[in-house]
Amino acid sequence: MESDIHEKIRQLIQEAGEILVLSHIRPDGDAVGSVLGLGLALQEAEKQVQMVLVDGVPSSFRKLPGANQITRKVQDPFDLSIVLDISDLSRTGNVLDGQVPDLNIDHHITNLNFARINFVDPEAPATAAILAEYLPRWGLKISEPVAQALLNGIVSDTLGFRTSNVRPNTLRLAADLMEKGADLSELYNRALIRRSFEAARLWGLGLDKLQRDDRLVWTTLTLSDRAQSAYPGNDDADLINIIASIDESDIGIIFVEQKDNHIKVSWRAQPDWDISQLATQFGGGGHPAAAGADIPGMLDEVQEKVISATRQLLKNGANGNKSSHYLKPN
Ligand code: 5GP
Ligand code: MN
Repeated sequence: MESDIHEKIRQLIQEAGEILVLSHIRPDGDAVGSVLGLGLALQEAEKQVQMVLVDGVPSSFRKLPGANQITRKVQDPFDLSIVLDISDLSRTGNVLDGQVPDLNIDHHITNLNFARINFVDPEAPATAAILAEYLPRWGLKISEPVAQALLNGIVSDTLGFRTSNVRPNTLRLAADLMEKGADLSELYNRALIRRSFEAARLWGLGLDKLQRDDRLVWTTLTLSDRAQSAYPGNDDADLINIIASIDESDIGIIFVEQKDNHIKVSWRAQPDWDISQLATQFGGGGHPAAAGADIPGMLDEVQEKVISATRQLLKNGANGNKSSHYLKPN
C-alpha cells in the first residue's frame, strides 16, 4: 500500500540515530542534490548524518549549501543506510562493502530493488522530485538549503524542465522549492549552462570526430583527449547533451574511454524511443530517454558492439522498442 511505505520510511528515519546517505559513482546534479537535500533535512531533524559520494562533488555543484560536508568514504559507524538515485548496487562504488542498504529511493525504471526497503517511482523526473514531494510525509522539513539542493536535482535531471517526463506537478514542486528560497536562475546556470574552458576544449575534440549513420550519431572521447584538453573529470563533460540535440538523429551515443580497459557509454534518445533495456543488456541501466553502461573492453570493440545493437533497435523500432508512458502524459 502507498501509505504503508511512507509510514515505514518515517519510522525507519525516526528510529535511526546515525544515518548514511549516498548516491552513485560519477555523480550528476540529481545525485548531489538528493544527497544534500535528504542529508541536510536529516541533520535539521537532529540526526548524525554522513553524506558520501565516492567520486566527490563535481565543480558545478560545489557551491550548494552543505556540499563541503560530502566525503568520498564512510568515516563513522551508522545504523541506517539510504541510497539515492541508484538503480543497481554496483553504482554505489563499493561504499557499503557488500552490505545490503536499508532504503533505496530512486526513479530509474531499471532499478533492481536491491535494498531491504525500496521506494522506486519511475514516473518521477528526478530522485530529488520524489524527496521534494515526500520529505514532509516522512517527518522532515524543507528549509532553504534543502530546497536549493532539491531544485538543483530536478533542474539537472530534467535538463531545465525540457525532458518529456516533466509533469504539471514537477513545476508545482519546483515552484514550492522557489518559495522556500531556491534560486532557479542560479541553479539552472550552474547546473546546465556554465562550463569550464577545459570542458569546452574536450567538446571540441569529441565534436571533431562526430559520426552519423542515418538517425544515429556518435562520437568518442579517449584518455588522450582528456589529457590534451586538461579536463579533470572521467566523464564526457555533458557533451552527450550537445550530441543529442542534433536534429537529424533519433539516438546519440558517446563512448568515453576509462582507465583499466573499460568504456563508459551514454545513450540519449528522442521521446519515441526506449534505450533503457539496451543499456541493461550491456550491464548498465537508466531511463527510456537517457541511459548508460560501463562496458569492459577496448574502445573499438565496445563501439562496434554497441553501435550494431543500437542500429538494430532503430531498425526494429516500430515493432515494440518505442517507449510508451514516457511520451504521453495523462
Ligand atoms: P549518463 O549517460 O549521463 O551517465 O546516465 C544516464 C542515465 O543512465 C542516468 O540516469 C544514470 O543513472 C544511468 N546510468 C548511466 N550509467 C549507468 C550504469 O553504468 N549503470 C546503470 N545501472 N545506470 C547507468
Ligand atoms: Mn536521477
